[in-house]
Amino acid sequence: RFITLEGGEGAGKSTQAKRLAETLRRRGLEVIETREPGGADGAERLRDVLLDAPKEWWDPVGEALLLAAARRNHLQHTIRPALDRGAWVICDRFADSTMAYQGHGHGVPEGTLETLYDVAAGPFGPDLTLILDVPAETGLARAASRGTVNRFEALDRAFHLRVHLGFHDIAAREPERCMLIDALADQDTVASRVLAAVDARIAE
Ligand code: C5P
Repeated sequence: RFITLEGGEGAGKSTQAKRLAETLRRRGLEVIETREPGGADGAERLRDVLLDAPKEWWDPVGEALLLAAARRNHLQHTIRPALDRGAWVICDRFADSTMAYQGHGHGVPEGTLETLYDVAAGPFGPDLTLILDVPAETGLARAASRGTVNRFEALDRAFHLRVHLGFHDIAAREPERCMLIDALADQDTVASRVLAAVDARIAE
């Protein structure tokens, strides 16, 4: 089973991914926790290139190309081998982040991103995508308070509003795969919402 967690800055994806993985492991499942960009040696290198580079190095299409290359590497070396041996994979961000950030946020055409996804991944996708939803302002404030401001997060508020709306658009367009989860509550409450969604959507 392949589950992705998505959402804007400060939505709590990493915390919830970890908690979900721990709960599923207690049920006796093998669970791999991974992330994008990254999740394999080559892809982690590209993550550094993307996140540490001066803003002017990569335009949004360039970012999308790097993200696609990283995704292919991640799929080949981490995700597919794990799924093939029956493990569950929980991934912190995946292709919906590319559509929300580079697409809705930066204006890269949807068709371009779909083509890149197709080249990188082919007919493959998550079984379930949980989109953790907090207002863009709240998420940015959380991200700022933990001090993880990088070149992406330094972008303007209007950008993050577009990203936020982008995730809503994705959830509305693919209701079978995606579930929007109100993530404004405390961590325990959000964790139980996440688990309820997994149990409801993925037959054991
Ligand atoms: O998931 P995490 O918050 O660690 O993501 C790292 C950064 O990469 C975030 O600031 C996010 O805004 C950015 N990012 C991006 N485009 C993506 C994926 C992540 O700008 N497609």
